Amino acid sequence: MIELHGNATYVTCLTCGKRYDRDEIQEQLRKTQKAPLCDTCSGFLKPATISFGQAMPVRETEEAYNRSSCSDLFIVIGSSLVVEPAASMPRIAKRSGAKLVIINRDPTPYDDRADIVIHGSAGPTMANILEKVRKGLMEGQ
Ligand SMILES: [Zn+2]
Repeated sequence: MIELHGNATYVTCLTCGKRYDRDEIQEQLRKTQKAPLCDTCSGFLKPATISFGQAMPVRETEEAYNRSSCSDLFIVIGSSLVVEPAASMPRIAKRSGAKLVIINRDPTPYDDRADIVIHGSAGPTMANILEKVRKGLMEGQ
């Protein structure tokens, strides 16, 4: 799994990148009523998610592009496919020969290029698909 938009369960220092457990930082904040600073460099700490205006993580983004370009099947689940860089990954996959499946409540700019499009909410749609896959596996299909 590549978390392009980070992970809300930990906190990172905006200066040196040191990682902290979010629960511990929350607990410190609750006790002291002051925003804790990095114990290594005194930098500001922020939940490790990417906010609008923040740069995308370089290594994760590169890895996501690499995997997109060598995938056989690219499944988009619950994305409007309008925010870059993630929005261009299905195009890269498709250009490299992958089949493209889009599962999203609303139409996306890539619907006409997809091999399968399902307009439905991600949660219930995926639950139905997994149920069918499980049944198929049990029946040996
Ligand atoms: Zn730091």
